[in-house]
Amino acid sequence: MRVSLFAAAVVLAALCATAAHATLRPLRPSDARLLARPATYEEQIAEQVAARLTGLHPQVRCGPLGVPTGYGILGITLFIGTRPAGYFLMLPQLCTELAAFHAAPASFDPRSCTDSACLIKDSDTAMALATVSHESYHLLGYRNEAKVECYGMQSIWFVASKLGASLAESQAIASFYATQMYPQRRTKTPAYWSAECRNGGTLDLRPSLARWPS
Ligand SMILES: [Zn+2]
Repeated sequence: MRVSLFAAAVVLAALCATAAHATLRPLRPSDARLLARPATYEEQIAEQVAARLTGLHPQVRCGPLGVPTGYGILGITLFIGTRPAGYFLMLPQLCTELAAFHAAPASFDPRSCTDSACLIKDSDTAMALATVSHESYHLLGYRNEAKVECYGMQSIWFVASKLGASLAESQAIASFYATQMYPQRRTKTPAYWSAECRNGGTLDLRPSLARWPS
């Protein structure tokens, strides 16, 4: 699950289906309708990025998440018991943001911002990119939100790069997320924050590299 910074974290037990048959997918009738339609271009990109991150062949769709709205939830990866069902869903606004980013990546470079409106726009975009990588780590079976969020943050650069941004901008967006957005989680969504999510921390996926988080 992916919760925005602007809402309290909430645990919805209903997200974790307990169906006995691991082959049962999709898990809900509304998911079946979403997954049955062809992926849009942005969904295909998200699928390709998620596939590269996970080594799996996941499906990604933007549409209704099938959970109560109003909690700031941006994305959801369905589980069958302890196993990921093999797809994730994101809110339609995230696909819109991914499409805008893909059309003109350089216009979402936080290094170019000179006012707060620009920073808000770029943080929304960074959040969309981070949602793709966050849900990808759920696809690998990780359930601990602090771990998933930290691992996902370390792949933001990859998502941005796949959507057409230069490596320098991709790393700048990841750095923006790590320095300006991630710290807010400590108080706003503490389940998604860890003191070990730092360069050289136990959640650092590339401890031998001095760079962070890319
Ligand atoms: Zn999550």
